[in-house]
Amino acid sequence: MPVSSTDVAVVGGGPAGLALSLLLLRSGLSVTLLEKSRSLEREYRGEILQPGGQAVLAELGVLDGARRRGAFAHDGFQLVEGDRVLLDADYRRLPGPYNCLLSLPQPALLTELLAACRAHDAFTYLPGARVGALLREDGRVCGVVAGEHEVRARVVAGADGRHSKVRRLAGIGAVREEAFDQDVLWFKLPAPDTGRQVVQVRRGPDAPVLVYRSWPDSVQIGWTLPHGGYRRIAGHGVEQVRELIARAVPEHADAVREHIRTLGDLTLLDVFSGQAERWAADGLVLLGDSAHTHGPIGAQGINLALQDAAVLHPVLVAALDAKDTSAAFLGRFEQQRRPAVTTMLRLQAMQGRAMLSRNRVADTLRPALARVVSRTPLYRRVLDRLAHGPDPVRVRTDLFTHP
Ligand SMILES: Cc1cc2nc3c(=O)[nH]c(=O)nc-3n(C[C@H](O)[C@H](O)[C@H](O)COP(=O)(O)OP(=O)(O)OC[C@H]3O[C@@H](n4cnc5c(N)ncnc54)[C@H](O)[C@@H]3O)c2cc1C
Repeated sequence: MPVSSTDVAVVGGGPAGLALSLLLLRSGLSVTLLEKSRSLEREYRGEILQPGGQAVLAELGVLDGARRRGAFAHDGFQLVEGDRVLLDADYRRLPGPYNCLLSLPQPALLTELLAACRAHDAFTYLPGARVGALLREDGRVCGVVAGEHEVRARVVAGADGRHSKVRRLAGIGAVREEAFDQDVLWFKLPAPDTGRQVVQVRRGPDAPVLVYRSWPDSVQIGWTLPHGGYRRIAGHGVEQVRELIARAVPEHADAVREHIRTLGDLTLLDVFSGQAERWAADGLVLLGDSAHTHGPIGAQGINLALQDAAVLHPVLVAALDAKDTSAAFLGRFEQQRRPAVTTMLRLQAMQGRAMLSRNRVADTLRPALARVVSRTPLYRRVLDRLAHGPDPVRVRTDLFTHP
């Protein structure tokens, strides 16, 4: 078995793991990144990036490159009922330069981050390495095992997503919250450019639908359905599902009929949120979805994952400098970050209920409430919070020792 050693073993090459790897490499540390997938074209995980995450990428020097690989700037998001725009969250009202929602496909983001990591000699990338065990010494985590690889590390960073193996191997529980009473069926359709770009939540006679334009020439559609309701709907056959979807997005009805041929053309996502009970153990720290999981509503998960990496970076640099990677030291990351993440989880749950839920009272009050909310100063504050979080995060570029 090949045995190697590194300062930090990062498990998971999603937005959190790759951003953290780059931050640590720039600060002169060695990093081994283990990623179970061999490809950057992974299961669909959303692509709308808030301004806070854009700022982190810009400070890392990778935003422009990622955008050049293919992205759309959206002016904001809208809640639309029938023909009426109930709420127009216009990000152009926020201060620049990142006053847009960026539709940045994850392959573009991950490719750019990985290329920047690869420019560092202290970086080792192990694609196809699925971590299955933690190494321990005197009760503390000191590395990982992935198939034939044994990687010894001063710290292990678990960035392996919503079903985190690292979290489970460390014996850390997670609380799952059914913050949304919907699952989402995702699919892309070819679609011509239609001018102004906004992310829309559309409410019609049936289930609400999420719609936004995606690079290069398609529209991404998320058709919501009650938790666990897919089996019943699918039981009626693809023709019926197709017609329901065509009714929800009538302007794309022809493309729906042409491109959704089997139920296999649709990806069902179990939407949930949650948090790990603790984010650190001796020699181990969790970040991104493995510490706190996010669904698609409100587009916060990638944003928070990138911000996590920026907040964890100085904690890890200090811990390795002080030769103290105890749970108490690494737990400083959780102390700094959990309050902001909890606030954003609450905000996401509120957004989900306000925009997607169905009941007679909410349906009657929604238009009036949306009108009132969008005229108050509170609205601007909420917009700012959605864009940047309660505590805007800056990258500690002063810790960079390597270009
Ligand atoms: C359908 C859907 C749509 C979404 N839309 C949006 C959106 O528009 N905007 C937004 O901000 N958020 C969105 N989210 C949430 C967002 O995708 C996540 O919050 C974000 O990807 C978290 O990043 P991460 O790096 O922590 O985890 P992930 O992106 O999940 O990355 C984890 C990585 O770890 C790897 N891995 C897993 N297990 C192992 C193992 N044992 N060994 C090695 N590697 C492993 C995986 O292959 C993966 O590459 C969406 C989520 C879903 C499910």
